[in-house]
Amino acid sequence: MKFVYDFTEGNRDLKDLLGGKGANLAEMTNLGLPVPPGFTITTEACKTYLDSGEEPTELRDEVSAHLDALEQKMGKRLGQADDPLLVSVRSGAKFSMPGMMDTVLNIGLSDKSVTGLAKQSGDDRFAWDSYRRLIQMFGKTVLGVDGDLFEEALEKAKEAKKVTIDTDLEAADLKKLVTKFKKIVKTEAGRDFPQDPREQMDLAIRSVFESWNTDRAKLYRRQERIPHDLGTAVNICSMVFGNLGPDSGTGVAFTRDPASGHQGVYGDYLQNAQGEDVVAGIRNTVPLADLEQIDKKSYDQLMQIMETLETHYKDLCDIEFTIERGQLWMLQTRVGKRTAGAAFRIATQLVDQGLIDEAEALQRVNGAQLAQLMFPRFDADSKVQQLGRGIAASPGAAVGKAVFDSYTAIKWSRSGEKVILIRRETNPDDLDGMIAAEGILTSRGGKTSHAAVVARGMGKTCVCGAEELEVDTKRRRLTAPGGIVVEEGDVVSIDGSTGKVYLGEVPVVPSPVVEYFEGRMHAGADDADELVAAVHRIMAYADRVRRLRVRANADNAEDALRARRFGAQGIGLCRTEHMFLGERREMVERLILADADEEREDALKELLPLQKRDFVELFEAMDGLPVTVRLLDPPLHEFLPDITELSVRVALAESRKDSNENDLRLLQAVHRLHEQNPMLGLRGVRLGLVIPGLFTMQVRAIAEAAAERKNAKGDPRAEIMIPLVGTVQELEIVREEAEQVIAEVIESTGVDLKLALGTMIELPRAALTADQIAEAAEFFSFGTNDLTQTVWGFSRDDVEASFFTAYLEKGIFGVSPFETIDKDGVGKLVKDAVKAGRETRPDLKLGVCGEHGGDPESVHFFHEVGLDYVSCSPFRIPVARLEAGRAAS
Ligand code: ADP
Ligand code: MG
Ligand code: MG
Repeated sequence: MKFVYDFTEGNRDLKDLLGGKGANLAEMTNLGLPVPPGFTITTEACKTYLDSGEEPTELRDEVSAHLDALEQKMGKRLGQADDPLLVSVRSGAKFSMPGMMDTVLNIGLSDKSVTGLAKQSGDDRFAWDSYRRLIQMFGKTVLGVDGDLFEEALEKAKEAKKVTIDTDLEAADLKKLVTKFKKIVKTEAGRDFPQDPREQMDLAIRSVFESWNTDRAKLYRRQERIPHDLGTAVNICSMVFGNLGPDSGTGVAFTRDPASGHQGVYGDYLQNAQGEDVVAGIRNTVPLADLEQIDKKSYDQLMQIMETLETHYKDLCDIEFTIERGQLWMLQTRVGKRTAGAAFRIATQLVDQGLIDEAEALQRVNGAQLAQLMFPRFDADSKVQQLGRGIAASPGAAVGKAVFDSYTAIKWSRSGEKVILIRRETNPDDLDGMIAAEGILTSRGGKTSHAAVVARGMGKTCVCGAEELEVDTKRRRLTAPGGIVVEEGDVVSIDGSTGKVYLGEVPVVPSPVVEYFEGRMHAGADDADELVAAVHRIMAYADRVRRLRVRANADNAEDALRARRFGAQGIGLCRTEHMFLGERREMVERLILADADEEREDALKELLPLQKRDFVELFEAMDGLPVTVRLLDPPLHEFLPDITELSVRVALAESRKDSNENDLRLLQAVHRLHEQNPMLGLRGVRLGLVIPGLFTMQVRAIAEAAAERKNAKGDPRAEIMIPLVGTVQELEIVREEAEQVIAEVIESTGVDLKLALGTMIELPRAALTADQIAEAAEFFSFGTNDLTQTVWGFSRDDVEASFFTAYLEKGIFGVSPFETIDKDGVGKLVKDAVKAGRETRPDLKLGVCGEHGGDPESVHFFHEVGLDYVSCSPFRIPVARLEAGRAAS
């Protein structure tokens, strides 16, 4: 196996092996763009190291060979005393993990070569600045020295000189600082800073490998659902210097605005600095457009390159570049992260530009982004006090109590508070706090600052660079212009779409995208219209190509109507349990307490017209579309009073000697029905089989409602669904009774009815005997919630709170199987049952109801196994439509 690739050997399709950074450096090299020469060590080498604790044996020789070649090309040797070749050792995994892993710049500098560098560049200050950066970065990331110690020493040096910015330190100061830094390394790491350049490089490579498994990298991967076993590649890239004076500098840029998608010049530039300085927000950057004044030649070349990249990648790209004494160098590019709204806009813009077709546009967006666009926004008309304005870095409307450190953010959010994390700038240590917060506000840094990049990735609201707000993290307060002070715990609202920051709680309004789905096209800002138009076009395309139909889980006419507006093609799950609650509880109690058939029948008779009315309304709302009604599923005790409460009430009454006859009977019933394991107890079809008349009453209500709708010239399409069937015998009994009732209703109303009878597949045994069950079922609906519970033996109500966090942390699964279908286990049962069911009954209709029906990844799975439809909550319907389209195209 080959472990090292020269930049000229790779290409952008090799991300698995070379990581995103390495693959794209190679791609740019081969496009003829100015990339400093270098080579990439593969993820395979990293995996070997992480598995065995040792580099693969061939690695050292391969690295030596590539280093030789690089030295030849550059005409100098790594760390050569009189004219050193310097390199950066950069992490770069398949998926971008901004700032999560290590990079060390200026490898190759030592006490000897620093003077060589000074001579060659004619710039003492630059040479010593580069050396102190190396010791600082190397000390922190490779040798594990606390980075603050270096920062403090740097601050002291500046104080001693009475200057405020790094660039005001002169060569002599930096030289002293290097001595100080080396001392820090010696004391803290217990070893000298390595003077041998190859040793520096090898240690740095190893530490990049190891940085794959730092806590913050693991946390980020869990958040972003990046697998833990990919490993990182390592890029060795010859150094170019942005810190060689005012005609040098470094910057980041986007080929389009990542927030709106609009074309233009977007980025930040920093003169006389190395790459790290921009992202860290250490000094304030200037807008990229200013580069035109500073260095027109490089600016023009950069614009040209950005255009080349956009046409080549056919997408928004972000880039890192450095200018060394008027010479432009490209250090990184990738298809850039963007906000959800920009994703839709850019996809349609690229179609209009003829760069991609509609099918490709559909792949450029996803359901998670659409879901994000459906979040509510701040009400523009509400009276609010604006505190200031920053950069709209990641959209959304967030309201919460101000907190000024991650620890408090986590603590408060655990106790149920909504918080806004306010920092001057964030760094990777703030990740937990950012996750815990509703939104993030910083006073420094641009669109490419850590806070902005990470928040966008998480889909979290973020306003950054609100410079007029003075953030004092020590005293935990923020001061706005005019002297308004926000203390820890005061409520603030931040708008990630406009960058505005408000005092107090601002009311929210629905998003324009929801207004569009609701059929109330938003007549608001142009910006919203543009977004709605893009969503409309992409949804239309998804609807055109998808094979899966999308239904809603809805139990009442109101939800059904909304679902219909959102594009539902029927109801896949109407739960009937709510039809037994509220004022109807008493009737249900009577039904359960009935000693004699007569009493029970009376109770059922009372319930019948109420249920019928519910169904009439529902069928009317869904006229012409299928409505699957599930017969009663939950255990009966759920409709009775709580056992403890009732016991106390009865005991108190007894002590007062005025026992209530009804309460006593209720208590007996509660005891009788009490189960250790209600989830596996008397519920679903089992209820129908042991409570005479219950299911037939429901079937009668459905049939009579359908007849009534037909008489009113409606088109009811009811389907009756039997829950929790484990064996075909259960289904046969219920089916026979149901058919008889339907025949009676046809007879008595004179209306011809066709009601499909089917079952849920939500027990492993049902899935395993699907061929038999299909004999008695006209349709299957996979109840993947219960199926997941029973296949895994997990009680959904308990496990999420008890051990799921531990499971996720240990990587046993990357995401809860209740959220995304477990393809290998639960999914396999579904797949096999589909096949077996269709063998018995080729026209068997197949669907899924359960949370998975609206989960993007699961929708793709259901498409693949050949279901006819998915059913999900009304709000998820657009997401399911979009993902069904993406799965089919
Ligand atoms: P990250 O993945 O965190 O962005 P990078 O490997 O891209 O880390 O490097 C961090 C910073 O150092 C970036 O700004 C990058 O442009 C800069 N950098 C990396 N390699 C070089 C190099 N060979 N010459 C100059 N700057 C570099
Ligand atoms: Mg980078
Ligand atoms: Mg169920």
